[in-house]
Order: sequence, then C-alpha cells, then structure tokens
Amino acid sequence: MTRRTLPAPAVVGGAALWMAAAGNLPLWHKLHALELLGGLRGALFALAMLLMLWATLAALLSLFAWRRALKPAIALLLMVTALASHFMSSYGVVVDAGMVTNVLQTDVHEAGALLSGPLIATLLWMAALPMAWLWQQRVHYGSTGRQLLHNLLLALAALGVLVAAVLAGFQPLASLMRNHKDIRYLLNPLASVYAVAHVAAAPLRRAPGPLVRVGEDAHLTPHQRPRILLLVLGETARSDNFALNGYGRPTTPQLLREDIVSFRNAWSCGTSTAASLPCMFSDLTRAHFDRSAGTRENLLDVLQRAGLAVLWIDNQAGCKGVCERVPHMGAAGGPSSRLCAGGECFDEALLDGLDERLAALDPERSRRGVVVVMHQMGSHGPAYHLRSPPGRKPFLPECQSATLQGCSAQSLLNAYDNSIAYTDHFLAQAIGWLKRHEATADGALVYVSDHGESLGENNLYLHGMPYALAPDVQKRIPWLSWASAGFRRASGLSLDCLRERSDVQVSHDNYFHAVLGLAGVQTSAYRSSLDPYASCRGPATDSVAG
Ligand SMILES: [Zn+2]
Repeated sequence: MTRRTLPAPAVVGGAALWMAAAGNLPLWHKLHALELLGGLRGALFALAMLLMLWATLAALLSLFAWRRALKPAIALLLMVTALASHFMSSYGVVVDAGMVTNVLQTDVHEAGALLSGPLIATLLWMAALPMAWLWQQRVHYGSTGRQLLHNLLLALAALGVLVAAVLAGFQPLASLMRNHKDIRYLLNPLASVYAVAHVAAAPLRRAPGPLVRVGEDAHLTPHQRPRILLLVLGETARSDNFALNGYGRPTTPQLLREDIVSFRNAWSCGTSTAASLPCMFSDLTRAHFDRSAGTRENLLDVLQRAGLAVLWIDNQAGCKGVCERVPHMGAAGGPSSRLCAGGECFDEALLDGLDERLAALDPERSRRGVVVVMHQMGSHGPAYHLRSPPGRKPFLPECQSATLQGCSAQSLLNAYDNSIAYTDHFLAQAIGWLKRHEATADGALVYVSDHGESLGENNLYLHGMPYALAPDVQKRIPWLSWASAGFRRASGLSLDCLRERSDVQVSHDNYFHAVLGLAGVQTSAYRSSLDPYASCRGPATDSVAG
C-alpha cells in the first residue's frame, strides 16, 4: 500500500480550518452569548467569520509552506492557539501586547502555577493530537520555483476569500466591532501573532536613544536626622479587599491598630506589573508615559542622585528595568531559610536580615538617608493559597487549585483574602522594624499596589486586561502611608490632614512626586501639585537653614 501524500496547500488549508474552527471556541462562545449566531442570518454571519479567520490564517501559513518550515510553523501556531484559548476561556484574559510582555517576563515559578489539568487537556486535544497526526503525513512540495508560485497563488486566493467574506458580512461585522471592540482580542491565534509582532517590532519603531536624564539638579533639603523610607510595592492587591478601606472582613487587623492613612480613591497606571512599574516610577504621567520610548531615568535615579542610599529588594519576577542603576537584590538571599522554599519566599523574607543588607550600602549615602523598595509577592495569582504561610490563614476553607473555576467563589475569596491578611501582617512587621530604628532615623512607610485583580466578577479572573476595557477592580489599588513621630516632626507632615484628604483621587501619576517630597529631595522635576502629601506638610520643626 502506498502512503498517501498531501499537497502542501491542502495541509495549509486544513491547519487553518482547524485553528479557525476549534481554536476559536471562546470567540464562538462570545458570539453566541451576544445572540449573533441565531437563525439563518446568524449562520451566515458565523460562516463569514469562519472564512475570514480561515483565509487570514491560510495566507499567513502560506508564507511558511516550505519543506522544513511548514510543520514546525503549524506546531508553534497550534501551541499558541491552545494556550490562548485556554487562558481566554478559563480566566477571561485576552492576549495583547501587554500580555505578551508579561508572559515574556514571567519566571518559571509563575508559569508553573498556571499549569493545570484543563490546560494540559486543551494542549493535548487542540495542539498535540492534530500535530501528531500531521507529523505522520508525507507532504508534497514542488521545486523551489514551483513552490514559490504555489505559495503566492495560495496567499492570493486566501486574501480573495478574506475580502469576499468581509464584504459579505460587513454590516453585522462593522456593528460588532463598533459595539464590542474587545472581540478582536478573541481572534485566535491572530491576536497573539499580532501582539508578538507588535512587541518584537518595538525596538525597530524607535531606536533606544541615550538615557534621558531626569532631575539633574536633585539635592536633599538639609535635615538633621537621616530618613528611612520603606516603599512597599504591593502585588495584585485590590483596594476593595482591605478592611482599612471598609471591606466587611477583617483582612487588616494589625494595620488598623497603627496610625495609618489610606488613600481610598487610588488608581493604577496599568493592569499588569510590567505596565505599572515603569510607569509609576516615571516622572511622566500615564497620559504621557510611553514604554517604547528610549530609556529614561526614574524616581530611583533621582533619589540616588540626591545622595541617598537606594536599595531594591525583590520577592518577585524582577523590577522591570526600574532598579537597573541602583543596588538591587532578591529576597531569597536573606539569612533565614524558613521563609523560602522551592525558590519562592513569603514576603517576610524582604525584612529578613534587612539591617545587614543596609549595612552593605555606601555608608556616606546611608548617613544622609535610605530608601528601600520592597517588591512583594503579595497576592500574586492564581495560586493565592501559596501567598500566606500555613499559620496565617484566617479565612478557610481555601481554594488550593490554579484552576479558579474549579473552586467555589467563597474558597477562592478566602485564599485571596488570606493573602491580603498576610500583607497586613507583613506591613505591620515593616512598621515594627521602622519603630525599632527610631532612635537613629526618622522612618516612614508607603505601600502602593501595582494593580488590582478580578476574582470572578463577570467571569473575569486575574488581571492584565487592556486598560480601557479593564474593570475597576483591576485598576483600584490600596495606597497606605505611615510615618513615625520623628518623621512627622522633621517633615511637618500631618496625618490628620492627610486623613481628611483620604478620598481625594490619586494615582500612580502621583507616586514620583509623593516619594520625592517624603524623601526631602528638591529638584525641578518635582511638582508639588502632583504630590498628595504636599498640602499636609507644614513647616518642618528641625530643619536647619540651608
Ligand atoms: Zn503585578
């Protein structure tokens, strides 16, 4: 029996059809939910959508219809299709350039937390099985010239089908795109391909010029005692789940005993770590911030230029370029091993051996003052239950699975709230550390999260939605402030005044200026109109004439 040989165009057409039909279940599901698939008109519309997807994918694959390229290209695209399909239907996330950047910056542990039975099942039936079949098949390719001609004709034919399908379905399509802009993110795997191309082309769009300097005139206002500023960078903490902000469950018992001010109306710059971090440390506001712009100095550079000792301690997947020019280290390097296991640490590891870490900084700078950024693991999902140690789980039972839909809403919320309760404990410990150093330095703590989180509202989970589409829970963040008596005296800061202004809207746009103000740094880059603490700072009582 002779083995059948498949012509390359048939393989391209078949693979494109499989991806367009089976790989787009979230899209078909959404169109069905929007009641666009009913009746004859609906069937025709579905056919037009299918043809559009098929034609675009076939045109794309025809570029790879060469002997050694076609099967690997299809395998890769099938993998992407299956992954995107799983995360869209499981978590309601969409794949855009921001998400691709997140994925590229995700470390192994974070990726491991997403591995689950349903993910493996989707990878198997959507990608591995068809690929295994295709790998067995003999594919016929022509000579180079012939194959080029075939590929060109195939691409042209596919584009012809695309145009025809768009024209045929134009009216419902146009209204769909107008009313449901987010549909384009469901076009699988095209949204992923587009996003990857967008990210990959970023360096081409603008060559990274020389480092743009910010606050070159930065200097310290003369004050007698050094200040220690602990900047705690929260992770995935949503404002609503803090008892301090009126949440009905006791998630912040320890902080409620401290003299804390909470800005309850605070908003993030992005909906992911990779989007928010560079933006919040930038002197540029969200409206002007552009990640593709050449590297630009940030808050930490300005603090360092003013002469302060700056240290970034990371308990997560890095500082996204923010800490490149200041001393930085991972939390896991601390002396105590009980807080770390399998390469992951509970956030208290950030405080572990902190004195020794600070002692290693430039003593000349440390005498003037210290700014420590602590980048938390916080409430990083979906494995929220891993974010709090066994003895610190006030809310039980807890969802223990990464497949969030597999858990009851209550157990999912319990696991998440436990992570907030642990952050409460961690922040109280950090304040305790500052209090223990009151004899030698004036301490203050500012805690701001990078973004919020969806916990199943409207079937959305996690974060990272495009900003314009993201629900408020992904954008509303906790912003807490604490200052020692000595710090308040030295800076003239009134917590009562701040408390009266706690409902004023603030955002990551304010962070740069807020920290400069608290650190006592003067520079032309500072704008008091953007410093939410500025109007609550009276005359300092211990500053010396400069
Ligand atoms: Zn984050």
